[in-house]
Amino acid sequence: MDLVLPRSILEDIRAHARETYPEECCGFLIGREDGTRRVVTQGRRARNVHPEMREVRYTIDPRDVLHVDREFRADIRHLGFYHSHPDHPAQPSAFDLERAWPYYVYAILAIPRGEPSELTGWLLDAEQRAFKEVALTIV
Ligand SMILES: [Zn+2]
Repeated sequence: MDLVLPRSILEDIRAHARETYPEECCGFLIGREDGTRRVVTQGRRARNVHPEMREVRYTIDPRDVLHVDREFRADIRHLGFYHSHPDHPAQPSAFDLERAWPYYVYAILAIPRGEPSELTGWLLDAEQRAFKEVALTIV
């Protein structure tokens, strides 16, 4: 599976990560499936409502997730989530793995010292209970 992300949406994610640094930002990736590709056409910010340690954890209000799942369920659908890793690499944490759902793609943006750097994409392999990295194309 390939993840296709317009540069403008990447810039929005980077801006969001800057604003919430040193806490994690989080949001939704919305778009369409195109064969083996998932083409993001819209990003939507969410609030990190994790009760503590928001430097290394994020939680999106489950009601917001439900809302987005319901709003985008036709050609344009809820494809996944993004979040930032302040001062940590763009690799999923044990916490990320624990809470990952199948199908959704998880984009992670590293933001060392407040300056956004690498963005990676991940998909849960439910049988292996492990993340597989996906190819990411910025257009
Ligand atoms: Zn994470």
